[in-house]
Amino acid sequence: MPTIEPERVPGPGAAGFPVVDPATGEAYDEAPDQQPGELDTVIDRAQRAWSGWRADPAARTTALRAAADAVEAAGEDLARSLTREQGKPLAESHAEVARTAARLRYFADLAPRTRPIDDGRPVRSEVRWRSLGPVAAIVPWNFPLQLAAAKFAPALAAGNTVVLKPSPFTPLTTRMLGSVLAAVLPEDVLTVVTGREPLGARLVSHPGFRHVTFTGSVSTGRAVARAAAASLARVTLELGGNDAAVLLDDVDVERIADRLFWAAFRNCGQVCMAVKRLYVPARLYADVVEALAQRAKTVAVGPGLDPATELGPVNNVPQLARVEGLTRQALADGARAAAGGHRLDGPGYFFAPTVLVDVPPDSPVVTGEQFGPVLPVLPYRSLDEAVEAANGTGFGLGGSVWGTDLDRAEAVAERLDCGTAWVNHHAELSLAQPFAGVKDSGVGVAGGPWGLYGNLQPFVVHRPREA
Ligand code: NAD
Repeated sequence: MPTIEPERVPGPGAAGFPVVDPATGEAYDEAPDQQPGELDTVIDRAQRAWSGWRADPAARTTALRAAADAVEAAGEDLARSLTREQGKPLAESHAEVARTAARLRYFADLAPRTRPIDDGRPVRSEVRWRSLGPVAAIVPWNFPLQLAAAKFAPALAAGNTVVLKPSPFTPLTTRMLGSVLAAVLPEDVLTVVTGREPLGARLVSHPGFRHVTFTGSVSTGRAVARAAAASLARVTLELGGNDAAVLLDDVDVERIADRLFWAAFRNCGQVCMAVKRLYVPARLYADVVEALAQRAKTVAVGPGLDPATELGPVNNVPQLARVEGLTRQALADGARAAAGGHRLDGPGYFFAPTVLVDVPPDSPVVTGEQFGPVLPVLPYRSLDEAVEAANGTGFGLGGSVWGTDLDRAEAVAERLDCGTAWVNHHAELSLAQPFAGVKDSGVGVAGGPWGLYGNLQPFVVHRPREA
């Protein structure tokens, strides 16, 4: 097991704050509660490490490949730690570790392209790319490792250094990851800081950063943008979603039911791009509700470390309260639970997988983001009505359309107001694709070469062709 080394932060040593296992509701460990006053030193060191790191692209490629190997070698420890503090089934934690390594490997081999500007003038003009400097990266608790890698892998590949802050609900696995990577990366190129607020707020308002990249809720994203405005640091925001899935009248319900269920309930619904609202032709409503409710009632809910578990607990108490509150309000507004609708007895933060029917379309569980194991299913009469409803929130992360005629389904998918639209799938992502939300779901582009260029500054060299 890799030893969790103390962070490379000078000073008196931070006191700890408790980390809770969501499967038991009990604190089982502590993480350092670093104070905002420590950030000056951390960022100063990141700034100094930048000059060496940015100078040698070949050394970066080698180091980032080694980083991917090191993550894989520590896979068992990382996965167990992730399940313990996040709650997800162990197999999903292993998959998250694998995606973290894959992202490092992908960006290790990605380089920006120098581009000539050919506009007919008798000059030689060329666009080259330069790194930005220290980058602040802040991530939430639903996919602590892979979301962190989505930030630091492109930032490091571009030649920047990174200060990474995980959520206080999932600090330990990120610290372990930081320790694993410290063994293969130059000192201070990647620093993990942990602590409770206002650590994040102070981090994003620090004048030492040239790029602030944040994943989290819309309301915190707005605060981050306001804070970073003081230093005019570049801001990338990957924010909340309220993805709609629209079923068409030619859909084969039994064939898609399983995929659709997991598109909504994977990671206990705590996925930015989960299906969070489902629109179904009125004629198929009863069949779809029955198929989903049957799966919700039979799925194995339990601690993530139990090999039989398919769905773990909700990660934390505020999130559990949110899921419960939205469900109760929907039920009070006239909705019915075709499955679940309540917390599960016993220790831990378990909520019964819930399928809500007859939900008023203006209920907050439909208009807002539940981010939990609760799916409202809404009937529609005309396709225009369904598309209008799907596009009718402030969110615009993803969306999907499900049917047998793929061309027709794709034509409907093109009408969705979001960053990624799928046909007969949801939240299937490639490392090579851009990832961006529209409306309140985000600012800037992550993923693929777009993620790399988001961490670079164009630099133009312009000279005459002849003396
Ligand atoms: P959150 O906004 O509460 O917290 C996210 C992170 O920001 C945490 O690390 C937190 O400590 C930190 N933070 C809190 N206040 C801050 C401040 N004032 N300044 C700087 N940092 C601050 O979100 P959460 O509850 O941890 O995560 C759930 C949300 O994240 C959902 O809305 C979900 O959709 C979204 N999310 C989006 C994506 C995406 O890629 N678009 C991916 C995963 C999650």
